[in-house]
Amino acid sequence: MERTLVILKPGTVQRGLIGEVISRFEKRGLKLVAMKMKQLTPEILDVHYAHLADKPFFNWLKDAMMAAPVILCCWEGFEAVKVVREMAGATNGRKAVPGTIRGDYSVSSQENIVHTSDSVENAKIELERFFSPEDYCEYPSPLDKYLYAPDEH
Ligand code: UDP
Ligand code: MG
Repeated sequence: MERTLVILKPGTVQRGLIGEVISRFEKRGLKLVAMKMKQLTPEILDVHYAHLADKPFFNWLKDAMMAAPVILCCWEGFEAVKVVREMAGATNGRKAVPGTIRGDYSVSSQENIVHTSDSVENAKIELERFFSPEDYCEYPSPLDKYLYAPDEH
């Protein structure tokens, strides 16, 4: 099964939307295998958002990501990276389609509720950035036969 990183951004924590957003991933059938609350730092954000370092909004983005703690989660499932990314919707909340997380809870290109890994390769890198091996919980998934066909793993 694939694993992907979701960060519930500071605005999500402050607006009391943690439960709503986590509930969406649970209801979809994804499995939560690691989760923690953390205050992010300039150092980790410089690395995490390195691809945006030359953008005019980079410092605003960093400030927004440090404005309150975040919730870091690792969700597991068949093709989880793509499934979660599509649940998040377009980056700009005003353009995100209703029914997606951003399309339902945001109206901003910056304050857009969640970070989600954008590829399997980046998911691995990002998960290593925020989680240690001991942060993961191994536990049975008795519902898998009701969620997946035998070849979906
Ligand atoms: N962002 C922003 N203004 C923009 C584009 C992006 O503030 O015009 C922020 C936004 O919070 C976004 C983050 O930068 O989630 C990372 O941007 P990326 O292009 O990686 O989008 P994402 O993968 O989050 O959809
Ligand atoms: Mg991105």
